[in-house]
Amino acid sequence: MGNRVVEILPDLTVRELAEKLGESPIDVIKELIRNGIMATIDQKLDFDTAAIVGEEMGFEIILFEEKDAEPIAELKKAVILRQKFLSEEPEDKLKSRPPVIAVLGHVDHGKTTLLDAIRNTSVVKDESGGITQHIGAYQVNVNTQKITFLDTPGHAAFTAMRARGAMVTDIVILIVAADDGIMPQTKEAIGHARAANVPIIVAINKIDKSNANPDKVKQELANENLIVEDWGGDVICVPISALNNEGIDELLDNIILAAEVSDFKANPDRYAQGTVIEGRLDKQRGVVATLLVQNGTLKQGDVVVIGTTSGRVRAMFDDKGTKIMMASPSSPISMMGLSEVPIAGDFFEVVKNKKLAQSIVSKRKDAKKSKRKAKRGMSLEDFLIRLEGEEVKKLKLILKADVQGSVEPITSSLKHLGDDEHKVDVILAGTGNITETDLSLALASEAIIVGFNVEIDYAAKRVAESEGVDIRTYNIIYKLVEDIDLALQGLYEPVYQDRIIGHAEVRATFRVGKSIAAGCYISDGKITRNALIRVVRNRKLIHDGTVSSLRHFKDDVPEVAHGYECGIGIENFKEVAISDILEAYVKERVN
Ligand code: GDP
Repeated sequence: MGNRVVEILPDLTVRELAEKLGESPIDVIKELIRNGIMATIDQKLDFDTAAIVGEEMGFEIILFEEKDAEPIAELKKAVILRQKFLSEEPEDKLKSRPPVIAVLGHVDHGKTTLLDAIRNTSVVKDESGGITQHIGAYQVNVNTQKITFLDTPGHAAFTAMRARGAMVTDIVILIVAADDGIMPQTKEAIGHARAANVPIIVAINKIDKSNANPDKVKQELANENLIVEDWGGDVICVPISALNNEGIDELLDNIILAAEVSDFKANPDRYAQGTVIEGRLDKQRGVVATLLVQNGTLKQGDVVVIGTTSGRVRAMFDDKGTKIMMASPSSPISMMGLSEVPIAGDFFEVVKNKKLAQSIVSKRKDAKKSKRKAKRGMSLEDFLIRLEGEEVKKLKLILKADVQGSVEPITSSLKHLGDDEHKVDVILAGTGNITETDLSLALASEAIIVGFNVEIDYAAKRVAESEGVDIRTYNIIYKLVEDIDLALQGLYEPVYQDRIIGHAEVRATFRVGKSIAAGCYISDGKITRNALIRVVRNRKLIHDGTVSSLRHFKDDVPEVAHGYECGIGIENFKEVAISDILEAYVKERVN
């Protein structure tokens, strides 16, 4: 029996997904956790995550058509990026460069097997003797021509990585298993490629299997408006068996052919620009990044700027681990010398010198800082503001400690803090360093993170910084508990400061019912209905109270501005007299 097909929007919450599937949200959360994703019920999921979870729960998930454009916007940007490289270059400087290929397709249709097969067939024994390094991309030689393959299929970063795979991609190899046909991720891949205007070559894989049905695949492709050549269309389609190395040469020949038709170009004669394929921290070598040069030539010693980090190319290696001095367009290289780990998909560029790099980086950091206020993360200060007015004020905490022996006394001390209306809510207590997963949880549940004798992982630090999540680390238990206690007290002992908003002179007094109102002229600022008011006579304070009524002619008004006359009633005060000065003020919270 086939799985039930469920159509979903590209961006939906766990709750919404559960509703769509007709399953309990708890089961969806459990499935997410099995996939290494800590999510709360109202957390948004991207399409790929939702699809994987849905499929593991026995559904067939497809993207709701109308919203198809969303994840693709990223790719449009990529095309513009590629075109921008070219439009800025003088025509006569442009030279042909190798095509950059991404292999896309549904899970288990053979992406990894194909990439391995291509890599292995191309290892020419006498070439370098080097061992192939997995750096996220590799280059192969077909006769005299080069082809660059992105080597990151089925990457954990789901959409982001796939979308970015296509960002730098000239041609997409759409792999479809002949025994399975077009599946949701196949459709999605077609969508990505189309949106990015990237030509598709279809590889029908697993033709060795007895139940392989290439014609059915071709029919399904036609349903997606991809008409293969032998059916009179223009889509190149190569039957292969990645496992048995069949059809690989034909596939590579066709890539070369398609690349010749498109004639991809770049200007090798300028500072390099391109995209980060991978970044990681290596114990021995420090920060190692794989870059794909898309324009210009990257040289050892060049100064590279990536987002808010920069560094000199200290050493550069190709995908075989051979040390190189230069890298031309379409070359993937791994480099050392950056001060921070860059993120896959980031744009890189070479600049003239370190000074310029530093000034670009510091400008970007400033821009980031000023944007940070709008971020989703929580700081202790945000809590104080956000919790005002709520009945039970809960300070949500994620606690990470070095050993279980510390977790217990800390959580129990924290639980005893506060009173019925002010509580510490430890939503997660565990051992080990503070990781990106903790950060995701903190973001999703608006919590802060407290660490005891632990360190903050590099990736976590970055997220904390960019999202503005408060992380506090301690190595003395009582200090930790004391700080949280102080924070809790801050929740119910706000400090207020008076701010004077205006003055009025009393020019007449009159009776209104049982009380007395003052006919006033606003001499500066304004008086508001909810203001507090001090009555000053001969420079002496004779009353401090609140406004009970504020009228302009016969109307009750919320405020009266400088230069106008009005009637002011003062709560519980009948002694107001002509020539009194009324000083209006408000209390403002300062902590
Ligand atoms: P990916 O998820 O798309 O990367 O798929 P994999 O490359 O991991 O392949 C999934 C499974 O299909 C593995 O067990 C492969 O051995 C198998 N497979 C891949 N290509 C072929 C093929 O051409 N023929 C057969 N019979 N099996 C294949």
